[in-house]
Amino acid sequence: MPSEFDIIRRYFTRPVKRALLGVGDDCALIAPEPGSVLAVSTDMLVEGRHFFAGADAAELGHKALAVNLSDLAAMGAAPRYATLALALPEADEAWLAQFAQGFFTLADVFGVELIGGDTTRGPCNISITVMGEVPAELVLRRDGAKAGDDIWLSGCTGDAALALAHLNGRVRLSDAALAHCLARLHTPVPCVALGLALRGLATSAIDVSDGLVADVGHIGERSGVAVELRYAALPCSHALNSYADDSLAQECLLAGGDDYELAFTASPDSRGRVAAVAAELGLGLTRIGSVSAGEPGLVSVCDAAGKIMPIASKGFDHFGG
Ligand code: ADP
Ligand code: MG
Repeated sequence: MPSEFDIIRRYFTRPVKRALLGVGDDCALIAPEPGSVLAVSTDMLVEGRHFFAGADAAELGHKALAVNLSDLAAMGAAPRYATLALALPEADEAWLAQFAQGFFTLADVFGVELIGGDTTRGPCNISITVMGEVPAELVLRRDGAKAGDDIWLSGCTGDAALALAHLNGRVRLSDAALAHCLARLHTPVPCVALGLALRGLATSAIDVSDGLVADVGHIGERSGVAVELRYAALPCSHALNSYADDSLAQECLLAGGDDYELAFTASPDSRGRVAAVAAELGLGLTRIGSVSAGEPGLVSVCDAAGKIMPIASKGFDHFGG
């Protein structure tokens, strides 16, 4: 059985370039670039809550980091460092090797250095803290949306939830559609380049992790504005279009969660610049609604005739049943 220190040395110690000091001392040492602030975020994945027992270790390593990088993207921060707190029931070396491979493959894509962490025996739990840098005046926050702004969405929502609906037997996807949706669920790609491109352009941003309606509602609450979404404008994947009935499609699009797309607001004067970002990054960016001076945090979803639709579910509450 490898000791805690064998595990750290074998699987989680890598030379650092940017950090002043990485794994091995009581603390890591980092210094942000002059003029930049550090954006810091923690996300925890708990077995039985966020992933099934027996989940693929490489995919877990990827996803645990990806969901954290998604938060940095939503702030317009460039990813720099991560720490990893890992509780495992036993030191399974095959599992650790796979987990580390999934983690570091994604870390290398975005230039993230693992600079520390904690390792202990316990019920499987993965907690990652990420740190990114962004010039102080360019931070994207939730509280900058203004009445009259457009609201935009990258990519499309719903595919991760559709994969879960398949796994729960609620819908039967073709092999190709299932493969697409499972990839969206297990190996989401954080919108880092988009977050950087939206600096100085978006008035507010959030990453969509708990469901589109819930998350744009957070922009509304923090900005003191109401949000109106146009249901017919919501981008929808081929899989969702082809296999989900109306009620499942609505649930997946509006409240599915685990999407890791960015929702953001921008002035209507910026439509050309947003379109240019979409073209430059080869991304779908869709105008899905608008911001108004209504009840703060209220999200209404309108049909093609402009009538307010009743919404079945409001997204994922981690303390809910
Ligand atoms: P301490 O006892 O001071 O908390 P530890 O013995 O827990 O230190 O950890 C030793 C070193 O290994 C520290 O630099 C810590 O940040 C790092 N470390 C521990 N676990 C991990 C991990 N899972 N990934 C990366 N670094 C880790
Ligand atoms: Mg420790």
